[in-house]
Amino acid sequence: LSNSINQNAISRFSTDTGRCDQVLLDYLKKLEGKVALITGAASGIGKATAAKFVTHGAKVVIADIQHQLGQETTEELGPDAIFIPCDVTKESDISNAVNFTVSRFNQLDIMYNNAGVACRTPPSITDLDLDVFDRVMSINVRGVVAGIKHGARVMIPRRTGSILCTASITGLVGGTAQHTYSISKSTVIGIVRSAAAELCRHGIRVNSISPFAIPTPFVMDEMRQIYRGVEDSRIEKILHDAGALVGDNCETSDIANAALYLASDDAKYVNGHNLVVDGGFTVMKSLALPAPDQVY
Ligand code: NAD
Repeated sequence: LSNSINQNAISRFSTDTGRCDQVLLDYLKKLEGKVALITGAASGIGKATAAKFVTHGAKVVIADIQHQLGQETTEELGPDAIFIPCDVTKESDISNAVNFTVSRFNQLDIMYNNAGVACRTPPSITDLDLDVFDRVMSINVRGVVAGIKHGARVMIPRRTGSILCTASITGLVGGTAQHTYSISKSTVIGIVRSAAAELCRHGIRVNSISPFAIPTPFVMDEMRQIYRGVEDSRIEKILHDAGALVGDNCETSDIANAALYLASDDAKYVNGHNLVVDGGFTVMKSLALPAPDQVY
């Protein structure tokens, strides 16, 4: 056990927080010797997951279109993280990122297809801008498919691997986002099921994570267009208040923890699953019954 625990980190954090048991659990290295490639990891959920994976002993390749931010993120995460420019709409970029990972670290154990965007379009499906639709699909759907294709290409010969994709609660419940985004995310859940059904025969697991709303850069950009002139802190509160679970908010670390679980051997028999991280939002719907004293 002691070999797999970062003793310095334990003593430092134990002193800082006094939460020894949590620190012990956190620092059990669940991805020691593993290699991960994460798309869209310069920021938000991808960055938080890259940090979590590094803490748990993985080497992580950060693939993103934001070159400067990607470099800054790898510098922040230390020598176990490395950046490669990658636009997931280009199959050659994804193929290169996978080949780069294997040439650098000899293997790919975890392929996390996380890059995604939303685009503001008119709200009614009758006004849908199909050019915007195609653009979002090329990132959120085609990019995920290409990531699975090339991740599986190098995992199949080794007969092992974990592929993750970021879906969304908006892919499960209609009316929670613009059509284009919602459709793209429900498609991700379908892609995972389809790919898992084939890749299980090669020892590869494919799962998705569906987060609730988190005020990451792309979400804040969207929200600022809706709530023009409203302060960011107020917008963040609006997002958090839309959640179901009283007393806590959905954070990037919650998704990183879910990704760690699915990527690690803790989830060695979990396949084709969509892990919903939403505090119960998608299972909660109040019956709009009138109060007894209002019924005559
Ligand atoms: P974010 O804006 O912090 O990160 C998205 C990252 O994707 C950015 O670093 C961006 O540069 C990168 N990216 C965008 N287009 C790309 C492309 N073509 N190729 C490569 N990288 C590209 O936002 P986030 O919330 O961390 O988003 C990550 C994923 O989580 C997305 O798939 C998003 O749809 C999903 N998601 C987010 C939320 C939320 O509320 N934040 C909820 C559910 C799902």
